[in-house]
Amino acid sequence: MTASRSAREKKAASEAGSLARVKIDVDANDRFVYKISCSQCVARGHLKWSAYRPGGDNGFMAAMDRWVFHLTEKHPGTDAPCLAFLPDAQQRLHQRREEQGAG
Ligand SMILES: [Zn+2]
Repeated sequence: MTASRSAREKKAASEAGSLARVKIDVDANDRFVYKISCSQCVARGHLKWSAYRPGGDNGFMAAMDRWVFHLTEKHPGTDAPCLAFLPDAQQRLHQRREEQGAG
């Protein structure tokens, strides 16, 4: 559903806050690929920090979780609507680690 791509992009960008650069691509399987990069973290000789996750809503959540962690670690004091998701993001991270440990 590429028709909703720009709408999703706008929504994600507004949630991610002013530091984020949100881009949604569509891969060869017609799935959304979410890319969130940081406009401040430009290291010489390195790519900008970014989270890149394929998939639908799961991909969006995974990319946004990484972004929330990046903001809290690297840019404390930054205000962004997505920081409200931090407890959920930590919960999901915990679950993923447990699943990986079990596997
Ligand atoms: Zn950053």
